[in-house]
Amino acid sequence: MWEQLKEQLWDIIFPPRCGNCKAPGAWVCQECWQNLALVRTPLCYRCGRLSPGFKICPSCRQANGLSRLILCGYWQDPLRRLILNLKYRRLRVLADYLVELMVWSVRLIDHPIDLIVPVPLHRGRYWQRGFNQAELLARGVAKRLVVTMADPLIRTRSTRPQFGLVKPARRSNVQGVFRLKRGQSSLVEGKIVVVVDDVVATGSTVEECAKILRQEGAKQVWGIVIARA
Ligand SMILES: [Zn+2]
Ligand SMILES: [Zn+2]
Repeated sequence: MWEQLKEQLWDIIFPPRCGNCKAPGAWVCQECWQNLALVRTPLCYRCGRLSPGFKICPSCRQANGLSRLILCGYWQDPLRRLILNLKYRRLRVLADYLVELMVWSVRLIDHPIDLIVPVPLHRGRYWQRGFNQAELLARGVAKRLVVTMADPLIRTRSTRPQFGLVKPARRSNVQGVFRLKRGQSSLVEGKIVVVVDDVVATGSTVEECAKILRQEGAKQVWGIVIARA
């Protein structure tokens, strides 16, 4: 009741405007929603070639712990702007829309999932931004798919944004930055875990999370992100 009232009040003070084109009426307008560049055929995230089930294609397969990475769309407007507005302009309402895209992509694969885990932010960055966008997305996806969400990973140091770095530097930038929180290994043992992030550059961050989760006994680790920047 109170939540509803708060939401209605909020809508009066800040009436919804499209997170891409600013048209009034909704947080993502019809036109922009229809113009999202979505990935409709499963691709290998490393080379972009067709690869059934969003798996890493045979020629790119490496021992990195990540079995597949699901990309929902391409890094193009309106999707690009929606992601940036969620992250940097703190338009959290946009997460609901992006969750829809993730749910749609996961359903394409039609495979059981046991646990959903967000890529953690470093504590300093969390206080700065006020929220972890990956966690918002993970929470939404878990709710929609009726799967448990947990936050068992810790980012032990703040890393530079991946986007400004060249490929080898991205890998070393995130190497060893994640670990499992104490007493959480029973949570991931034997599970099919899906790691959620908003965007990837090369996939190094998600791969690094996958490596830790596999070391801790996860049966399989996938990743899902909205787009690859
Ligand atoms: Zn729009
Ligand atoms: Zn490939």
